[in-house]
Amino acid sequence: MANRLFVISGPSGAGKGTLVKGLMSVREDLWLSVSATTRQPRPGEIDGETYFFLSREEFDRRIEEGDFLEWADVHGNRYGTLRSAVEQRLEDGLSVILEIDVQGALIVQRSYPEAILIFVKPPSFEELRKRLIGRGTESEEQIELRLANAKMEMELEGCYNYSVTNDEVDIAVSELNSIIDFEIG
Ligand code: ADP
Ligand code: 5GP
Repeated sequence: MANRLFVISGPSGAGKGTLVKGLMSVREDLWLSVSATTRQPRPGEIDGETYFFLSREEFDRRIEEGDFLEWADVHGNRYGTLRSAVEQRLEDGLSVILEIDVQGALIVQRSYPEAILIFVKPPSFEELRKRLIGRGTESEEQIELRLANAKMEMELEGCYNYSVTNDEVDIAVSELNSIIDFEIG
């Protein structure tokens, strides 16, 4: 048994949040990192649970102080992983899940080469568009930006240790679960 750092990423709308929720409901040995962001909260999102919602000034101050393990500009806002919480959980012997964008995943890979990167992809680009529209959380303009970014993000799949296609949620969660079992040993 070894605790590991897992990074789950892939294009917006692929279903990362849905799969991570499913995964966390069946495992107790994982800790899900709560990121910081400068994006506005969506209805129902709770500060400190979904994200730590920070002003741009506060976010940039924390960059200066070295508080982020990684951070990136994603679809027009800043998002970052808080270093101290992740390092503490790893020291405690838990495995940690980061659900972050592709740029952030590659930064983590450089600083933690032993991290396991898992790419979540949609069955098709059309399905990705449908999911983003169906989620109903972004403006049309934001959806187009996320789809344009998805084209570039899909090209980085080869940098990952594993890929999971999110066609049926249950099957994809069980694939993720098997990868984690295998890597934890
Ligand atoms: P991400 O976190 O990658 O941005 P979400 O988990 O928010 O993506 O999923 C985007 C939308 O697609 C949500 O409305 C979600 O309910 C839906 N969704 C997720 N997985 C599937 C799936 N396998 N089949 C159909 N819809 C899905
Ligand atoms: P959303 O605005 O839909 O919650 O997230 C937008 C994107 O930001 C998603 O791809 C999500 O994975 C990514 N993201 C969330 N937290 C972080 C983080 O801490 N770091 C990075 N690099 N990306 C993040």
